[in-house]
Amino acid sequence: MPKRKKRKKKVNSRIKRASDTWKEWIEATPKNIVELWKLFSKFIRLRDCLKTTGTIWRGKCVTCGRVYRFNDLHAGHFIPGRMNSILFNEQAVHIQCFRCNVVLGGNWPLYYRFMQSLYGQEIIEDLIDTSFLKMNFEEKWVNQAFEYYSWAVDFMRENQQLIESDTSKIATG
Ligand SMILES: [Zn+2]
Repeated sequence: MPKRKKRKKKVNSRIKRASDTWKEWIEATPKNIVELWKLFSKFIRLRDCLKTTGTIWRGKCVTCGRVYRFNDLHAGHFIPGRMNSILFNEQAVHIQCFRCNVVLGGNWPLYYRFMQSLYGQEIIEDLIDTSFLKMNFEEKWVNQAFEYYSWAVDFMRENQQLIESDTSKIATG
């Protein structure tokens, strides 16, 4: 089989595996955790879009550095595993493109380098330790987190409008 075909097959099976894992995770996970993850993912993508481009519409993948639209970005975990306690850890999740997150399985060598320059080794070690603990979120915590991230998502969207109006003021002098 030609090399290119072989690689395409490998990529397709990775995409399929990722989509199967996602479906299995949704089935196996309490509904409130799934809903919180969707909101948390929005929070991460808004946070990192604002951080990397100053807008909520586009963001730079933390591992390959390419710029993508908000809807094409993923909230990618530094350490894989959706069942562990770093699921909602803001330091363990950042924006990635589809290729880095799914096709390259997280693109971890470059993710590691990114984490080291942003947080340093001590935090990386903490995250690795915490990642061995199983997910155990109390309902009260989930409710509070839901409230907080709803507020934070709204805040960033409103802030974006402030940034835009500031920019237009500068543009019109
Ligand atoms: Zn990327």
